[in-house]
Amino acid sequence: MANTSANTLMWFRQDLRLSDNPALSWALEQGSVLPIYVLDESAPDKAQLGGASKWWLHHSLHTLNKSLKGKLLVIKGDASTVIRQFAKQYSVSNVVWNRLYEPWQIARDKELKQQMSEQYCVKSFNGNLLWEPMQVLKKDETPYKVFTPYYRKGCLQRSAPRYPLPSVDETSAFIQADEQVDDGEHITALNLLPEIAWDSDFYNHWTPGELGAKEGLAEFIEQAACSYKDDRNIPSIKGTSHLSPHLHFGEISPHQAWYAIIDNFDNAFDNPDLDCFLSELGWREFSHYLLFHFPTIQEENFNPKFDKFPWRKSAKDLSAWQKGKTGIPIVDAGMRELYQTGYMHNRVRMIVGSFLVKNLLLDWREGERWFWDCLLDADMPANSASWQWVAGSGADAAPYFRVFNPVLQGEKFDKEGEYVKRYCPELSKLPNKYIHKPWDAPDNILKACKIALGKDYPEPIVDLKTSRQRALDAFAQTKDSA
Ligand code: FAD
Repeated sequence: MANTSANTLMWFRQDLRLSDNPALSWALEQGSVLPIYVLDESAPDKAQLGGASKWWLHHSLHTLNKSLKGKLLVIKGDASTVIRQFAKQYSVSNVVWNRLYEPWQIARDKELKQQMSEQYCVKSFNGNLLWEPMQVLKKDETPYKVFTPYYRKGCLQRSAPRYPLPSVDETSAFIQADEQVDDGEHITALNLLPEIAWDSDFYNHWTPGELGAKEGLAEFIEQAACSYKDDRNIPSIKGTSHLSPHLHFGEISPHQAWYAIIDNFDNAFDNPDLDCFLSELGWREFSHYLLFHFPTIQEENFNPKFDKFPWRKSAKDLSAWQKGKTGIPIVDAGMRELYQTGYMHNRVRMIVGSFLVKNLLLDWREGERWFWDCLLDADMPANSASWQWVAGSGADAAPYFRVFNPVLQGEKFDKEGEYVKRYCPELSKLPNKYIHKPWDAPDNILKACKIALGKDYPEPIVDLKTSRQRALDAFAQTKDSA
């Protein structure tokens, strides 16, 4: 039997979990709760979900719905209109959510709060960041632009993050809306899954949802946390947590990840592996912080010197990069990992990024857009800040003149070529000596390995040395024009 009223409307957004969910915990203290998720059609084009994110969301919503005993109401529409409509229809007293920090989300939420505050108690909570961006400023009240002082001084010295809240278990307090149809059908009706089945391998790598997130964190603590600092650079092994999509969709909070480290180990900050992992959570905070204080960085260069940068336009080169057919093995392996698994190792993200913006001289926004569509962890703050970091145009960025050499990077971080062989199987017979530079292999070796360059595997689409120099020359021009 459906209910017609509830005490509180809980608007789930990027907090698809029952544990450490401050808005939800508060809502349940008030009595009955109407849980709603809105696929927001009012989001700007840039924020519309990419293909991989849609896949994740589909599964994550099904999982949350199960935890809520099938009572999650999922609606597609203009989020503000939907929330106002259901608050009225179910005669709620309170409307609650956990805060989000992208510029368009802030504008939407602010306006909605203003519109509803006269009639309802509207409350927002911090469920997604260890330190909220508005709290952390330099002595002169301006925002930090460099990571280390931001994190060490602005955040760590300021206060410890709050401790995670326990999971809620009063599922009887959730009410079933009249609009609710058969179990999960309304989620499937959103059509989030791809029509062409390019997602088949995702199922082998990922378990979206709160339980998957908790198991992932536990596995990381047990198996990888204590060797994180070095292993995090080796793309052929699982040396990192793989928590990024779970964190993006809020299936686990950064507080839970943070205190899993602090509680499971003594003096975590004195241990280089653990300190390094905690500081990566700090980078996540920093990217949100930058987008909050500098809201145009998703589209515009943080450093305006790059506005006149002479980017090339080449649909052919961009397509070769996207498809993993550049002829540079570590780049191709990374781009194929991305397409097949919805993820790419961080070290390799930096290598393929550097190759795109420096060796190919293509605009970082092209890379950002492709990642947005293909990454399961696509996250506006992290993606834009990281691409600008790679391009050299960002806050605290890698200097433009530091051009990664993909061959040396491969030889250093994928010594045996295991990673390349996994994603470029056509090269798997090549001796390790040539795995990162097949063009250097003598003809008899290529023949014995049954590789015809240009046929079985591409010739490099650019010469690494000359394209590096071209990038440096372009950068020098930018400096001159500043
Ligand atoms: P771990 O090494 O286990 O780190 C733990 C968590 O810290 C991650 O889950 C993530 O939330 C956070 N984190 C780690 N490194 C960074 C970083 N450099 N910046 C911000 N947060 C970080 N990360 C995304 O979550 N979404 C993106 O869209 C994204 N795009 C990127 C684009 C480029 C060009 C580059 C170079 C990096 C990008 N990153 C992005 C950052 C980083 O590559 C991923 O967060 C990381 O690889 C995720 O794997 P993990 O969960 O195993 O990370």
